[in-house]
Amino acid sequence: MESISKEPEIERAPESPLPEWAPAINCPKCGTRLTIGRPEGSELKAEGDLCFDCDRCGASFGSVYGLPDLTPPGLDNTKAQERSHYTENVEYYLRMHSTWHRSPFYRHYHRSFLRLFDPLPPGSLILECGCGLGHDGLELMRRGHFLVATDISPGQLREARRLHRREGLGRSSLHLLADAENLPFADASFHGVLMVASLHHLSDPLKALREAHRVLKPGGILVLGTEPNRWQSKTIYPVGKALIKTVEKLTGVKVLGDEMVSEADKKAEGFFGRELETLFYRAGFRENRLLPAGYLSAALFFLCTELSQRLPFNLKLYPLEALLVILDDWLGRLPLLRKVPWHWNAWARKAP
Ligand SMILES: [Zn+2]
Repeated sequence: MESISKEPEIERAPESPLPEWAPAINCPKCGTRLTIGRPEGSELKAEGDLCFDCDRCGASFGSVYGLPDLTPPGLDNTKAQERSHYTENVEYYLRMHSTWHRSPFYRHYHRSFLRLFDPLPPGSLILECGCGLGHDGLELMRRGHFLVATDISPGQLREARRLHRREGLGRSSLHLLADAENLPFADASFHGVLMVASLHHLSDPLKALREAHRVLKPGGILVLGTEPNRWQSKTIYPVGKALIKTVEKLTGVKVLGDEMVSEADKKAEGFFGRELETLFYRAGFRENRLLPAGYLSAALFFLCTELSQRLPFNLKLYPLEALLVILDDWLGRLPLLRKVPWHWNAWARKAP
């Protein structure tokens, strides 16, 4: 990608433990370059020992679990709930991921969106917003990229850091608590931005996409992974819920329990394809591509996940799921079905 401009010179405190490839850190409130220092008397060994001060607006930022906390002061209710939900329930998400990551559906569509970064040469700097447990970012580092992993939940981000260090990629990654709608980075800092299943959790997705556009270098790539299609919320989910309620009524057996989903996820409906394209355009992206991600394989994956939580064993139908993944790739080529996949993977590029 010759079109991507060269890294700008970055000033840094000589004693900063941030890696030399790290982007400039800006105030998430006013956009001014933050002064990096350390609390008095403390030894500077890791990024978590740092404090970040804004000389312009007076905001200062500390750390949680040894992770620099660059979320703007006064997070709204939804964000505060997301932060605590994903921290308090981190064990649950670790358990779920240990089964998900072997599923043919999960593997196929995660590989598909990660492939969208193929044009970036090794050594590119990629930002992940909402990195969760850190598995997708890990794959990008294995290809030789540098990763700034951000999340709003300290519990999830700490797990991502553990995973990356365990895999020997601690030096290729930097972990910061940040809000996707108010990114603490200078303009044109990254060659790529990745957001997996996180855009629909945000109250202002357009603001988050504008931020992604701002921090990308000219020619930089934004990849969205597995964003839900709003179409499901209007059809399959209400029909499915009505069916299950009828079954519960007839049999007296409770099937639907309290689902382990965050408040934001309960409200979120995802995006119609046209909505996503409009959001990309309004955020400044003039090139984008939507890729259908799953039909029958997605339905089977989510059905198995739902049932496994109510059965005394994990229901896995991997050979069937693998067959459906192949069939789904064909279904996604039919003009009639292109607009109604379960999920979207998407690609957008900032003008060179
Ligand atoms: Zn400031």
